[in-house]
Amino acid sequence: MSVAAIATNPTAEFRAGGTDFSERRRSGVSQATPIDILESGDKTITWDADGAVQIGALTTIATIATDARTAAAYPGIAASAQGLATPQVRHVATLGGNLAQRSRCWYFRRADIDCLKKGGATCPARSGNHLYGVVFDLAECVAPHPSTMAAALLAYDARITTDRRRGLTIADLLGDGSIVRSDHALTEGEMIKSIALPAPLEGERASYKRAISRTYAEWPLVELCARVVIADGKFQLVRLAAGGVAPVPLRLTAVEAELSGKIANAPSIAEAAKLSGSGAKPLPMTVYKLDLLQGLVRDVLERLSS
Ligand SMILES: Cc1cc2nc3c(=O)[nH]c(=O)nc-3n(C[C@H](O)[C@H](O)[C@H](O)COP(=O)(O)OP(=O)(O)OC[C@H]3O[C@@H](n4cnc5c(N)ncnc54)[C@H](O)[C@@H]3O)c2cc1C
Repeated sequence: MSVAAIATNPTAEFRAGGTDFSERRRSGVSQATPIDILESGDKTITWDADGAVQIGALTTIATIATDARTAAAYPGIAASAQGLATPQVRHVATLGGNLAQRSRCWYFRRADIDCLKKGGATCPARSGNHLYGVVFDLAECVAPHPSTMAAALLAYDARITTDRRRGLTIADLLGDGSIVRSDHALTEGEMIKSIALPAPLEGERASYKRAISRTYAEWPLVELCARVVIADGKFQLVRLAAGGVAPVPLRLTAVEAELSGKIANAPSIAEAAKLSGSGAKPLPMTVYKLDLLQGLVRDVLERLSS
């Protein structure tokens, strides 16, 4: 089926690397007709004279993880790509597919269980087992957004171009979590074409870390991409984007604001990290994520400021 056909076929779905879509088809969660975009899509990484970059949506996660210039300019992006899934998955999974992948909630992934994302009336995880669920309970569905790259791109103020719109922020692309039937705010048949990152700031450093229930090949319980600029021993910029905690990746704005202009040392980081759960609404089984989040904030910022 051609790419244009998706406009007239509501049961069709793009397939890029297929690591998410094909698994949903195999398990019966999706009956959609695949429209292959891998071969025809943009896989290029293009640098502007000022150091900004555009990454084609069909670029693989492995390419982003291993491209030397990307790692030098955007270490948080490269480390996030390097940290997700397995070498085999990274080799075929694409950046666009990563952003548009569907929920990992185990109720959603069971074909025989109804949930809000599949047209059901309730969220079975809310009354059932939500151990891996959100700790910022901001929407009806309690699944955290699954995309590691979305959190990293949020930290870098990325802009997304689709075949219909330009200049979308990660918040524009994913919505606020209230669109329960989907995991993003793309319109029917809208295709992500490329992702743009502004030029790195003078002297900025970045890092990524995840807390995970096994050593690899699993989505994180909590993950954090952090950027800092430190001058004269003080934080000039702190940018923290967390995944695994909310229906969409979240900026930890209370911590960012607390650290602005503060001395970049362990005591001020420890004090500010206490604010990492500001606005959280834990579920009965997800309180533990607040400790993980606070620990990641301390760990990543201490490393970046040492
Ligand atoms: C063991 C394992 C561990 C994993 N761990 C992580 C993890 O820690 N973090 C993480 O983020 N992911 C993780 N993943 C998921 C993996 O990263 C995604 O499945 C992958 O990135 C999806 O990319 P894809 O190209 O294969 O997408 P596909 O499976 O081809 O597509 C996924 C969805 O995106 C849509 N889509 C694809 N491309 C576009 C486009 N250009 N425009 C609009 N819609 C599009 C498709 O229609 C489909 O609905 C893991 C996967 C496995 C198997």
